[in-house]
Amino acid sequence: MKSLFSVLLTFIFLFAFGQDNSFSEDNDCGFDKLHQSDTTINVLANIKRMNNNHQHVIIPVVYHLVLNPADSAFITQNDVFNSLNFLNQRFYAINNQSNVRPIFQNIIGNPKIEFCLAQQDPNGNPTNGINRFTTSRAYFNTAIGEWNLMKSSPLGTPSWDATKYVNIWIVDLTGGAAGYAYLPSASMHGSAIDGIVLDYISGFLFSPSILSHEMGHYFGLRHPWGNCISDDGIEQTPFTQTSNFGCNYNRNSCQALPLGPDNPSLWGNVDPPDQIENFMDYSSCSTMFNEEQVDLMRAILDGTRVSLKTSYVCDGVSLPIEGITVTSYSKKYNVYINFKTLSEYNNNGFVLYRSNNGKDFNIVVPFIPTTLSQNYDIIDNVKEKGIYYYKIKSVSSDGIIKQESLFTVKVYGSEFTPILQYGILLMDKDKKTIIKE
Ligand SMILES: [Zn+2]
Repeated sequence: MKSLFSVLLTFIFLFAFGQDNSFSEDNDCGFDKLHQSDTTINVLANIKRMNNNHQHVIIPVVYHLVLNPADSAFITQNDVFNSLNFLNQRFYAINNQSNVRPIFQNIIGNPKIEFCLAQQDPNGNPTNGINRFTTSRAYFNTAIGEWNLMKSSPLGTPSWDATKYVNIWIVDLTGGAAGYAYLPSASMHGSAIDGIVLDYISGFLFSPSILSHEMGHYFGLRHPWGNCISDDGIEQTPFTQTSNFGCNYNRNSCQALPLGPDNPSLWGNVDPPDQIENFMDYSSCSTMFNEEQVDLMRAILDGTRVSLKTSYVCDGVSLPIEGITVTSYSKKYNVYINFKTLSEYNNNGFVLYRSNNGKDFNIVVPFIPTTLSQNYDIIDNVKEKGIYYYKIKSVSSDGIIKQESLFTVKVYGSEFTPILQYGILLMDKDKKTIIKE
């Protein structure tokens, strides 16, 4: 939708003035329109300080570049790296915050959230966390409700498991939104439309701070403005009547001197101005979250979005199961099998199969759930003597069978067989484990 000429003009402007041009009246955040029917607006009212001891946490992200060929050529891998670095600086409060006025300096919050590019795709295959998809669409138009068209085929690409990845779609948007995100309701978290959408120019290349704003929504933050009586429910965000554009440090849109409607115990005998330094406003000098916003985001991360904390998709791809030892013996017609693992990566459990010819296997135990002890005992009644072949297959937490182990047990009927130790196993390139006697 953007002509190259206007893109170049904006570039020139940026280089000349060194600004993050952030939101504008023509390209604002789509959040309010997207959540017009949201009835949960008051649920989070009056957030106060909850916790000031947040621990470092790593959250995986994937960038879906859903662009037509002309737009796609404009976005490089380095642009994604820059976007992520910019985000990480702001979610670790290591960006330049010297513009924050003294009244707000001591309430700057540090989310201590580090975002990482996914190293595994949903099938467990290596990825760099950038998923390019060529769309036939010139643009997506939010003015006619095309909020989610880029999140499914044929015009877009489906989300990666949104319980494990923060999905970010970079697209050509028209209709007045530079970006938008959904709030973390229980039904939204992990759904097919959960995530963040950014316009590839106004919400990504030219305004990297917009991702910080949308990530704020993603973790439960609202815009700071309202009606001077209620707004985003964050006490450390002074009441604000309408959004701020540009960088006007003199604006106080909800004035009531000497004591404003804001909490006097928080601000003292001062009516605080609009907190235009806040990422959740539209101003071009936003450089901070406040402590209570951070508390709320971290509460969401410990609550609705907690699954992201135990997602391991930023780890390098490794085998789900490392080093299995198996021992077995038989007593009458019972086969006693014990196996242990050295480590289990993203493992959900195992399936045990048996064959009496080494070729045709049937399921004996359909599911053996993973245990913290990584030590498993199984008894299989085979009803008659003979040589039995077993396979143990591991099932990863995404339901995919990742590898298998094969071993044989001789059953002599009334006699004990010696305990057989099969040793620690090596995996081949196909992620299969062959247990040899
Ligand atoms: Zn917004």
